[in-house]
Amino acid sequence: MAASQLICRECGADYPLEARYVCNRCFGPLEVKYTNGHLKADLPELRRRIQSGPQNIWRYADFLPVDAPPGPSTRATSRAGLPAGCTPLVKADRLAERLGLREVWVKNDAANPTHSFKDRVVAVALACASTGNLANAVAAAAALGADSYVFIPADPEEQKILATGVYGTNLVKVKGNYDDVNRLCTELSGEHESWAFVNVNLRPYYAEGSKTLAYEIAEQLGWRTPDRVVAPIASGSLYTKVAKGFEEWSELGLITGDQPAFNGAQAVGCSPVAQAYAAGHDVCRPVKPDTIAKSLAIGNPADGPYAIELAKRSGGSIDAVTDDEIVEGIRLLAETTGIFTETAGGTTTATLAKLAARGDIGADERVVLLITGEGLKTLDAVRGTFESYEIEPSYAAFESAVGVTA
Ligand SMILES: *Cc1c(COP(=O)(O)O)cnc(C)c1O
Ligand SMILES: [Zn+2]
Repeated sequence: MAASQLICRECGADYPLEARYVCNRCFGPLEVKYTNGHLKADLPELRRRIQSGPQNIWRYADFLPVDAPPGPSTRATSRAGLPAGCTPLVKADRLAERLGLREVWVKNDAANPTHSFKDRVVAVALACASTGNLANAVAAAAALGADSYVFIPADPEEQKILATGVYGTNLVKVKGNYDDVNRLCTELSGEHESWAFVNVNLRPYYAEGSKTLAYEIAEQLGWRTPDRVVAPIASGSLYTKVAKGFEEWSELGLITGDQPAFNGAQAVGCSPVAQAYAAGHDVCRPVKPDTIAKSLAIGNPADGPYAIELAKRSGGSIDAVTDDEIVEGIRLLAETTGIFTETAGGTTTATLAKLAARGDIGADERVVLLITGEGLKTLDAVRGTFESYEIEPSYAAFESAVGVTA
């Protein structure tokens, strides 16, 4: 790791690496700053070191705020021995053909230990808390199998509640939406300075985990950038940090190719960033979420302004798709690639389809579609979207129902 400081994204004030997420001076968000210019000196060696590293996000430890945790990952990070990252990047020729595109790749982050991209960010946040790189107050908390509490909105998909409670955490259902949960956690973190909140006072570190998606894609494409990335937006953290990942490696000279265009994907029922983008605003007006894409349902996105700025700067866009289009997106991806994604992946797939239909994607582009979660967690979304035959167990019944003859 070559992280040196936390730095304010608005006024540039710097702070030591501690559990802090807003600037004392201007209340701007803080970001991890690195001093890894020295890595430039021997890029072939750096590539070799990465390639011979572990098959998980810790192969990129030079670009993360903390070194790999010793031994198997901590209990709370993931299933033991199955750390996050190194998920498949698959060429999706049938999907490309259906959309009239030349080259589409699907980054399947549903292949992570708990079946979503969140394993990346949580692994980095918890490693920071547990190795004492942060204020020692934080090192005492959350880490090393100490008590953990998970705060969730009262109405997520039942599959997600079950798949969380099974790990033995203290599950706290908050009667409200994600924004209410975030507000409560911010309040609690103010009252309990020794508690480590993955998505509050550890947020600058948590966010860095998303960069590993970019590193992996670039490495898997042969140390090159793709031309375009279609990514989901909830708080806007993943979307903007993936861009940061490509930028860091380009600046270093580790990869070739121009910076990709970044297309953000939201659900119409919770699209504060897409709405602000369409209206030409620099900041988002908070909304009350109402969509089946619950993992993207953040009505007051912390990184909204940075997401808008990235869409403009990179030649991308931010689009919103309806719940019906999201379900169609889930079906399209499953039918053409064999990958069954949750509603967030339906949102990115539907957005890719929309961009293709609109003619926004050039004839020779290499496009990467981010799939961030597993379809078994949002089964209700696809209920009733297909027919099946029900027959007596006889050949005649099969023939008459299905209408095929020998
Ligand atoms: C958290 C999450 C995202 C992205 O969230 P950001 O807050 O924008 O980083 C995307 N997909 C899934 C499935 C998620 O759980
Ligand atoms: Zn500041």
